[in-house]
Amino acid sequence: MTRKLTKRRAAPEQDKMIADALRDVGRPVSAYELIEELRDKASLAPQTVYRSLDRLIADGQAHRLESINAFVACCHPSHDGAAVFAICNDCGTVTEFAEPAAVDRLRAWARKSKFAVETMTLELRGRCRDCTASAQT
Ligand SMILES: [Zn+2]
Ligand SMILES: [Zn+2]
Repeated sequence: MTRKLTKRRAAPEQDKMIADALRDVGRPVSAYELIEELRDKASLAPQTVYRSLDRLIADGQAHRLESINAFVACCHPSHDGAAVFAICNDCGTVTEFAEPAAVDRLRAWARKSKFAVETMTLELRGRCRDCTASAQT
């Protein structure tokens, strides 16, 4: 009887692979799209991918966009956990930007209200500049 070699990837290696794939696609994707994206390199179970994504999110390397149920690579190497996104309803383009003044205001409210913030992701939904321009022609 031949023993099947189980190639178990170490978590850090796996996280890096998923972080790289997320950065490469450059747009928000679901966990299933990521699995498809990585199919040539590895066959990953959804649970595995979700666990990696959780670690990447906790680590500030990725964000979850609740309103479109997708994950996106963080494009700011350092921000203290609050991310602001503008999501185009027409083409799906996502722009991450920093708006420290707005975030500070929200944190101040949380402090005053004794609300313990765990995550803060602001999502603006609408139409991007390109789509607005093409809608007008
Ligand atoms: Zn970010
Ligand atoms: Zn657009």
